[in-house]
Amino acid sequence: MSKKVNSLKILKSINSTKKYLKKLDKPIVFIPTMGALHNGHLSLIEIGKKLDVHTIVSIFINPIQFNDKKDLEKYPRTLIRDIEKLKALKVDTLFAPNIKNIFDKNFQTNVSVKNLQKNLCGLNRPGHFDGMATIVLKLFNILKPDYAIFGKKDFQQLEIIKRMCLDLNLNIKIIEGKIIREKNGLAMSSRNSLLTKNNLLLAPKIYEGLKLVKRDFTDCNQVNSQLVIKKLNDFYINNGLKRIDYIEIVDKKTLEKVRKIKKGDTIAVAVKLGKIRLIDNLQF
Ligand code: AMP
Repeated sequence: MSKKVNSLKILKSINSTKKYLKKLDKPIVFIPTMGALHNGHLSLIEIGKKLDVHTIVSIFINPIQFNDKKDLEKYPRTLIRDIEKLKALKVDTLFAPNIKNIFDKNFQTNVSVKNLQKNLCGLNRPGHFDGMATIVLKLFNILKPDYAIFGKKDFQQLEIIKRMCLDLNLNIKIIEGKIIREKNGLAMSSRNSLLTKNNLLLAPKIYEGLKLVKRDFTDCNQVNSQLVIKKLNDFYINNGLKRIDYIEIVDKKTLEKVRKIKKGDTIAVAVKLGKIRLIDNLQF
């Protein structure tokens, strides 16, 4: 039977997914998401489409990676619109399981990539990265992809996943997608839709500040990182971004804080605007 143009196979249960996957005769590229799809997600899908293999996108809002219950409750849910976007990009399969299917009532296992979560978002979001690594490993086990694509916007998440794949001998090639931004520089995020009008005007300052310190310290080799952090901190405070969760400069692989900056180090920030916490990063 010939395949319909723009057909998107939607799978909800693990059993039907297993049966479906058995019949596939191509490698699989997998793009995990929590939905409310924006151009950042779509850019990852476009990378996947270029591989010319079977594309699977998942939409699953993973409760065990939310350390704040309210954040989970208000997380945007736009499944019908998401499906249209996946069809437009000719994605082959959407895996959109329900919670009960993924976590049975006796669920009790945890995947913890220890050192890479000690810093940055790991500090203020206890349990977040364990919950994330656990669901990603579950999704990998269900879908058995050959490739998986993650965005550099969540660069700590990306490094944790890469480490998990090495540590647990997962034979999956991890592909990295660059950060996609609005015209005003704001990194795209599903949570941006929850910002108030005022905070939406302030939010682009996050990237403006990152670009400013990168420009001022282009010859950054051996510059004291505290100097750069202070400059960015002052810029944020002076521009109305007063609730700074962290500003850190870290080695891009170990994610440990650096004292003197070298090329390739990453400056990473988390800032709260109203009830919404936004993250961004830029590499020196
Ligand atoms: P999420 O739905 O927020 O869990 O994100 C799913 C994937 O999309 C993750 O790999 C994110 O890093 C990636 N992603 C989210 N926002 C962006 C963005 N603005 N640019 C590139 N990738 C992104």
